[in-house]
Amino acid sequence: MYKLDDIITTKKKHVCGNDKWKIIRVGADIKMECVNCGRVVLIPKIELDKKIKKTA
Ligand SMILES: [Zn+2]
Repeated sequence: MYKLDDIITTKKKHVCGNDKWKIIRVGADIKMECVNCGRVVLIPKIELDKKIKKTA
């Protein structure tokens, strides 16, 4: 499960070259922030499940 302030790793890197994201909102959609560039994205939880490498 995703919790606030969790750091997750995505299989595909962000355009800035980083693959670590911090969870900043949880629910049916997950809001997460790129720890490198600060870009915030909103993604459905079911989609995120397929994209993460592991929870850290
Ligand atoms: Zn980024």
